[in-house]
Amino acid sequence: MLKPAYPAQTELEMVTLEQLVPKDHLLRLLDQHIRFDFIREATQHLYCENNGRPAIDPVVLFKMLFIGYLFGIRSERRLVKEIEVNVAYRWFLGFRLTDKLIGGRVLYTDSTHLKANANKRHFEAHQVEQTPAAYLAELDAAIETDRAAAGKKPLKRDDDDSTPPMKEVKVSTVDPDAGFMARDNKPTGFFYLDHRTVDGVHALIVDTHVTPGNVHDSQPYLARLDRVMERFDLAVGAVGLDAGYFTPQVCKGILDRELFGVMGYKRPTHRDGYFYKRDYLYDAVQDCYRCPAGEVLPYRTTNRLGYREYASNPARCADCGVRGQCTQSRNHQKLVTRHLWEGFKEAINANRLSDLGKRLYARRKETVERSFADAKELHGHRYARFRGLAKVQAQCLLSAACQNMKKMALLLARKAAALLAKILGQALFAADFARYYLPMALHHENSRIRLVSA
Ligand code: SF4
Repeated sequence: MLKPAYPAQTELEMVTLEQLVPKDHLLRLLDQHIRFDFIREATQHLYCENNGRPAIDPVVLFKMLFIGYLFGIRSERRLVKEIEVNVAYRWFLGFRLTDKLIGGRVLYTDSTHLKANANKRHFEAHQVEQTPAAYLAELDAAIETDRAAAGKKPLKRDDDDSTPPMKEVKVSTVDPDAGFMARDNKPTGFFYLDHRTVDGVHALIVDTHVTPGNVHDSQPYLARLDRVMERFDLAVGAVGLDAGYFTPQVCKGILDRELFGVMGYKRPTHRDGYFYKRDYLYDAVQDCYRCPAGEVLPYRTTNRLGYREYASNPARCADCGVRGQCTQSRNHQKLVTRHLWEGFKEAINANRLSDLGKRLYARRKETVERSFADAKELHGHRYARFRGLAKVQAQCLLSAACQNMKKMALLLARKAAALLAKILGQALFAADFARYYLPMALHHENSRIRLVSA
């Protein structure tokens, strides 16, 4: 008689890992005969006693590596996936069925350019529609709220018109997907950008995303960060970025996600002989700026770019002795602007100066910058080998996969060699003990027995 299959997947069963692992499983034998506790003692000096985040037990880390070697799992990511579903591995590591495995506490992101296979003189000028940035709707709402609070009328928006905003761009006739890059201290021409995110521990690459060379680093950042966190289910606590990402929307996005962000500092552009912006002090209580001559610059309006404008009184400025260092405006009025999300930038900037911020930022050059340096030196990452965005994306993914595999193999080999040396050291001690001390001890014991019998 045939019975319909009973769906057992969602049934609750009361079992322990101990019951699920076969009695003769290799990992049971290893656990029974080898004590791994010495790893904890041997690595104790590498951990701070009273500071920092709680670390993963080094015994567990080593055991994970042994599982990889014992069962021929060559990829660390694959290893983690296997541990997620294998009850024997979980039993060996001391994990519960529902424990998560990866930390991924600190992520570093940066971009590098790959020269497109396209001559920079072969292009056509095209009018293209400007794609609104993802954060613009949020910023527009914030602008309208701010203007309404200040009693200002709503702004007339471009999208009220039927024609979308356009801009002129250079499009390569050879590789139209590449973007014309014109950045400070960078080569000019058609390029692609590889936006890469690496983990803070071993600089394993967790994301690589290619855009045309004329896309600003900050544009894809938050979406890629969300993707990495969701895809690998990482409990990210901090991110490290260079100064190119120091924009109001990225700072706000990081703080909205409750992350500790640390970014590089870029000196603001400044005209010689003029005051710096920092010479104008913001008074958050009065919501005004105070100029170097002590005059108050009250709030005037909030513009459509999201900047609040603070303007001086021209009558006061006309007689000011330091006006030559302050403004060149014909009506003698000084204007200072402050972005609606400036507070987020200030909070992120304060992180940079903290002890933790300094430590995290210093690690950036050892992780993501090193990752790009290796890619360029060893994996042909200076040039796009193909034409077209999809093919260059494939090139960057392959390069990242090779770098990760190499790093995993080296790490695992180094750690396994260190452990093997330790085990061999113990084995040699055991051999010495068996060869020299055991006969002596037995001889001594036999003599004692003979004396007692006599
Ligand atoms: S010109 Fe006006 S705003 Fe500038 S320092 Fe003098 S008083 Fe202040």
